[in-house]
Amino acid sequence: MPRPITATLHLEAFENNLQVVRRFAPTAKVWSVVKANAYGHGLKNVWRNLAQTEGFALLDLAEAVLLRESGWQGPILLLEGFFQPEDLLLIDRYRLTTAVNSDWQLRAIAEARLQAPLEVYLKLNSGMNRLGFAPERLHNIWLQAQELRNIGSMTLMSHFATADSAEGVAQQMATIERAAAAVALPRCLANSAATLWHPSTHGSWVRPGIILYGVSPTGHWSDIAETGLQPVMTLSSEIIGIQRLKQGDRVGYGGSYTALGPQQIGVVACGYADGYPRHAPSGTPVWVGGVLTGTVGTVSMDMMMVDLTPCPQATIGTKVELWGRNLPVDDVATTAGTLGYELLTGLAARVTVNCL
Ligand code: PLP
Repeated sequence: MPRPITATLHLEAFENNLQVVRRFAPTAKVWSVVKANAYGHGLKNVWRNLAQTEGFALLDLAEAVLLRESGWQGPILLLEGFFQPEDLLLIDRYRLTTAVNSDWQLRAIAEARLQAPLEVYLKLNSGMNRLGFAPERLHNIWLQAQELRNIGSMTLMSHFATADSAEGVAQQMATIERAAAAVALPRCLANSAATLWHPSTHGSWVRPGIILYGVSPTGHWSDIAETGLQPVMTLSSEIIGIQRLKQGDRVGYGGSYTALGPQQIGVVACGYADGYPRHAPSGTPVWVGGVLTGTVGTVSMDMMMVDLTPCPQATIGTKVELWGRNLPVDDVATTAGTLGYELLTGLAARVTVNCL
């Protein structure tokens, strides 16, 4: 008998979520971010349901090739510019747009034998201090790039480190405005949080990821509850065992949970090898047969235990939702000290995905 754990994708939510993005950023074109296997949802499951987008943005060449070969004809952006000089032939062949973040990349593009000029995104480091050109260099880089016949159109790109903070965005925007004043380029700056809450960042293109999957960029569902976004993924399983504890009985590895009195617990077929966070403490919310309850004890590799006190009618086979439509992944992530991003992208390959 197969393990009852399943990730169900409510695919119609993608169209809804894209419409929400358009409502918040009505004048911008949308790069739908589908890196990390579409945030754990499966690139092939996802892209056809977001086909109204103007383009898809992702991390590496292998994902871009997969997307192109699956049939997407429109724009594809390599978000960080992860390529080796020899990859430029593939970038050219597959008609990819790429970010450029360092001088050697401009030299490599200049020397490549391409069929057509590349569209590039000049990546500006406006304060995140990850990848990108320093603001004071942007003007020169832009002049150099203009001289290259292998470069066609250019866009200015930057990324926000604290897009949910008005102050953080204002600081980075001040840097971007100063650098951008010296170049005549369209802009692509906004991730999900900036798309929702900072219209001044929108520019020509926005680049939302997490909100397309119906999850909050802040870690708090309440921050997006009123937007109309809908979660795409529901991770569900079943009760596969029941234990009746007496006072003092301990549960799971390390006996990290001790029953305070008689208590019924359920064993759920879901563990950290499925992508559930092992460090989720006792009390992490879980939905059992229509009732919210909490985990008890340490999550094991293939199973976890849940308190059945609020749902005494639960029995073997009762449905359990680990996260999804009844329980935002943000609530689970916050209790476990992480974000929905990590839980979604950490979904294990062994979990069956079922598309609705
Ligand atoms: N743009 C870049 C460069 C990113 O690295 C990411 C994700 O980390 C995104 C856009 C999308 O971010 P989010 O999922 O917060 O919308």
